Amino acid sequence: MIIALASGKGGTGKTTVAVNLALAAGENCKHDLQFIDSDVEEPNAHLFIKPELTSSETAGIPVPQIDQGKCNYCGKCARICVFNALAVTGDTVLTFLELCHGCGGCAYFCPEEAITEIFREIGVLEMGHSNKMSFAHGRLNPGEAMSPPLINAVKEKIDNSRHVIIDAPPGTSCPAVSSVRNCDYCLLVTEPTPFGLNDLDLAVEMLRKLDIPCGVVINRADLGDSGVEDYCRKEGIPVLMRFPWDRELARLYARGEPLVLHSQEWKNEFTRLWETLLLKAPSTS
Ligand code: SF4
Ligand code: SF4
Repeated sequence: MIIALASGKGGTGKTTVAVNLALAAGENCKHDLQFIDSDVEEPNAHLFIKPELTSSETAGIPVPQIDQGKCNYCGKCARICVFNALAVTGDTVLTFLELCHGCGGCAYFCPEEAITEIFREIGVLEMGHSNKMSFAHGRLNPGEAMSPPLINAVKEKIDNSRHVIIDAPPGTSCPAVSSVRNCDYCLLVTEPTPFGLNDLDLAVEMLRKLDIPCGVVINRADLGDSGVEDYCRKEGIPVLMRFPWDRELARLYARGEPLVLHSQEWKNEFTRLWETLLLKAPSTS
């Protein structure tokens, strides 16, 4: 079973829920667990899980290199590239490799075979473990915009013999879609405010298009208004956990200490959440 933790916007406590769920599940899981942090622009789950990182790999994409000696400046490559990563002006082919998505189209269609592909590094993958839990995350290079290929590379580390928890990046754009695609279930972490509701609605729409069932966790549930609860009721989306605003929770978070390691009550709550999620995919429990 692959469960993604996502949120329509940042700052909702998504990583807190993901980490505590994983640590509680790790003790109650028949199968060993794997934690994937696909929030490659800002990976921080490792600060709480504290895995021992045992290996790393560079990750990148194939980008075009033009052989000006073979090129006849026909402009076909620039016309093919929908990302505007190539431009042909007179007798020069300009490349804007930070825009290249590595699709290979320009090399494929070049009539003069003047394009070869070279590797452009976009980030690094790091793998390890914390007790029995295996762990992988990606770190996008500073200033790099091309996160989906790195997210896909992290997801290639998914071990299908394990239950998997993915901490996805916030939002509903390409990085979030790449992260949640092919998951069995998605937990959306939100807060009970008009902004939270707006972004939750967008995230639900994204998941419906991807045909992924979802449930909601409401953070700071004792603040704000009833809009999120009303929305979930109307849309038939289960609210699986409510998190109160609590100064002690915030203090533990700031110190990088998972809640379930400090509170038996919360450990029980996250264990119950995990068991609820297992019931949604009984064949894999
Ligand atoms: S398609 Fe090939 S030959 Fe034509 S401009 Fe591009 S690199 Fe040059
Ligand atoms: S590989 Fe694809 S995205 Fe990159 S420059 Fe060529 S056509 Fe554009």
